[in-house]
Amino acid sequence: MISTCYYCNKNYSDPNHVATVILYKKLETDYSLGLTGLKKKKNYLKKSFQVNRCATCSKIHHTSNLPTLIFSVIIMTVVALYLLLIYKSRGAAIILTPLAGIAAAIIYIYFTYRRKIKKHGMKDLLEINEHPEIKFYLQDGWQIIEPV
Ligand SMILES: [Zn+2]
Repeated sequence: MISTCYYCNKNYSDPNHVATVILYKKLETDYSLGLTGLKKKKNYLKKSFQVNRCATCSKIHHTSNLPTLIFSVIIMTVVALYLLLIYKSRGAAIILTPLAGIAAAIIYIYFTYRRKIKKHGMKDLLEINEHPEIKFYLQDGWQIIEPV
């Protein structure tokens, strides 16, 4: 059976590029008394789904990782050098450098990856709430993020 890619709804799905999406359902947490005090055991169900995807969407889903990392490392280096050498504060460098890295990654993804996705009229990897089978589970209390 030939099926259409869920993400772009345009190309044929490629069996080599099927996306795996995992859903979780939180169950009641068990508490028990152990030697070191109260022990918490989180319980949840896990289920994986195969989502039809074409090679183009698969490629775009994967392209943001490396450039985002490179961009954020460059920004972190610049910020760290500025704070250490010009502002002369090691404390500020330790606190602000990781924040600058995170901000850089978010900005980069927003302006490149998101824009590219919109241009192709495709969905992000985890925009699966329109998937007929997954939609049913999401309405039944399942979630995309692993319960904490
Ligand atoms: Zn596609």
